[in-house]
Amino acid sequence: MRVLVADDDPGSLLVARAAVERSGHDCMTAADGGEAWALFQAHRPDVVVTDRMMPVMDGLELCRAIRAEEPELYTYIVLLTSQGSRDDVLSGLEAGADDYVTKPLDPFVLHTRLLVALRITTLHADLAHYRRVLSEQARTDPLTGLHNRLKLSEDLEQLHARSARHGEEYSVALCDVDNFKSYNDLYGHQAGDLALRAVASTLAATARRTDGVYRFGGEEFLLVLPRQGVIGARALVERALCAVRDLAIPHAGDPSGQLGFSAGVSGFSAGHVVSAEMLLNEADAALYAAKAAGRNQVMLAP
Ligand code: GH3
Ligand code: MG
Ligand code: MG
Repeated sequence: MRVLVADDDPGSLLVARAAVERSGHDCMTAADGGEAWALFQAHRPDVVVTDRMMPVMDGLELCRAIRAEEPELYTYIVLLTSQGSRDDVLSGLEAGADDYVTKPLDPFVLHTRLLVALRITTLHADLAHYRRVLSEQARTDPLTGLHNRLKLSEDLEQLHARSARHGEEYSVALCDVDNFKSYNDLYGHQAGDLALRAVASTLAATARRTDGVYRFGGEEFLLVLPRQGVIGARALVERALCAVRDLAIPHAGDPSGQLGFSAGVSGFSAGHVVSAEMLLNEADAALYAAKAAGRNQVMLAP
C-alpha cells in the first residue's frame, strides 16, 4: 500500500516512516496538513496516517477534505491523537477517520492498524471492481454484446443535450429484421439467435467508432449517429443493409430468399428541432413505411 503520514513533529514522523516501511509499505511524509492534502491529491495513497494538530490544515480538516472527494478507491484514515483525549477520538472518527492510535507512536501498534487497513482497502477495491463490472453488464445485451436500452437512454440524453447546445445535427436509424418470425419458425430459435448476432456484428462493423449501436428490442436495432445528417445516415444504413445481405443468410420465408432488414431514419438539425423521443417516433414511423413499401429498404422520415 501507499501510506501518507502527516505530522508536524519531525521525530514522530521519523518513527512513523520507519514503522510503515518495516511493515512493507511505501511511505510519503508531510510536515503539515496543507502539504498532506497536496500529496493526497497528487498520489491518492491507500492509507493516510495523520496527526490531529497541524499547521495550515489540521487533521480533522484533512479527514473531511478526503471524505468530501469521491475517488474510485477508498482511503483508510488513521488519526494520531494525544493520550487520553476522548474528544479528539470522537471528533476524528466523526470527521471521517477509520481508526486512531495514541501518541507517542508505538511502531507495533501502527503495524497492526496497517494490517486492518490493508483488509479494508482491498475490500473496497473489490467492491469498486464489481460495481464497474455490474454497471457494464447492466448496459449490455447478453445475446449480441451490443449496448442495450438503458445505455441508449443515457447516451441519447447526453448526445441530444450536447447537439442542442452546440447546434449540431445527429441522426437515429431504427432497423428491424424482415420476416424474422418466419425465420424462427423455419430454422428454429437457436438459428434465429445466431442470425441476430450476425446482424448485430455487421451493424457494429459498418458504424463509425463514434456511432452508437444498440439492441432496441427483439429483432430491432438502433443506430445513433452523432454529427450526421439524415442523408449521410441513410447512406450508412444502406451500406449496412448491403453488408447484411452479403452475409447471404438463406431465408425461405423472405421474397428475396435471404435475410435482410428495413430501416427508418430521422434526424435532429437546425431545421428540425425536436425531442429525442420524437425522433425515435419518427424513425419508427419511417420504418413502418419501409415495411409497407415492401421491406428490405431504408426510408427517411418526412
Ligand atoms: P416484419 O418483417 O414486419 O418485421 O415481421 P417480423 O416477423 O420480423 O416481425 P414480428 O414482430 O412479427 O416478429 C419478430 C420476431 O422476432 C418474433 C420473435 O420471436 C423474434 N425474436 C425476438 N427476439 C428474439 C431473440 O432474441 N431470438 C430469436 N431467435 N428470436 C427473437
Ligand atoms: Mg419487430
Ligand atoms: Mg421484424
